[in-house]
Amino acid sequence: MSESRTIKVVDAFDLDDELRSLLKPGEMLRDAEGRRHRLPRYFYEVPSHEVAVEIRLTPHFGLNEFILVDLKEAPRLQRFPRYIPCAVRLLAFFLEQFRGAANASVHITVNGGYRSPAHRMSEGATPHMWGTAADIYRIGKEILRTQELIERYNALAEELSNEAVVLPYGHDTGASVDDHVHIDLGYLIMTPREISEDCMEVPQESRPRFAFEERRQRERREDSDAPSS
Ligand SMILES: [Zn+2]
Repeated sequence: MSESRTIKVVDAFDLDDELRSLLKPGEMLRDAEGRRHRLPRYFYEVPSHEVAVEIRLTPHFGLNEFILVDLKEAPRLQRFPRYIPCAVRLLAFFLEQFRGAANASVHITVNGGYRSPAHRMSEGATPHMWGTAADIYRIGKEILRTQELIERYNALAEELSNEAVVLPYGHDTGASVDDHVHIDLGYLIMTPREISEDCMEVPQESRPRFAFEERRQRERREDSDAPSS
């Protein structure tokens, strides 16, 4: 049980050719305003659907909620093992605070969490490709289709943190329709503490760079509270 709670962190420069060509670690990408951003290099490796469901990033957010995609994602990236930038942990932390402020469950859309650079909705850099953006279609019982609801929850997210960015109602179509709240934390890159950074941006054939994330304080405490067998 405790063993499965640790997540493997990989350096995407060490993944196979196909995965590297899809994830594009360290490559530069322009956003809609023409600014350049460097794509993430360190990813969580998710071995199976069961593990994705089991791993909690925060008390109310499972890792699986951030990797829901359909056929718009590259076929290889729909199969396990799957990969998600490590900064998703910071997004989950923010969404946990947002959930508390909304006092209701927060539901991420399909294709509304991590989208790889190969995803069909990835045209230019968006924080979705950094694992730091979420599209939310439902909060509690409320389906976010009206301008009033979307603006209310946008305001709630902005009140929580100056680091959170939301998009205005109608941002997808430019018209007066919308069906989700978009929250992002920008082009954040996370280098997990367990990783030793190597300046060589080439695959390490003989020495793969990976680590297992150390277990969090609360998890360690829960284990020590458990009766010893
Ligand atoms: Zn979005």
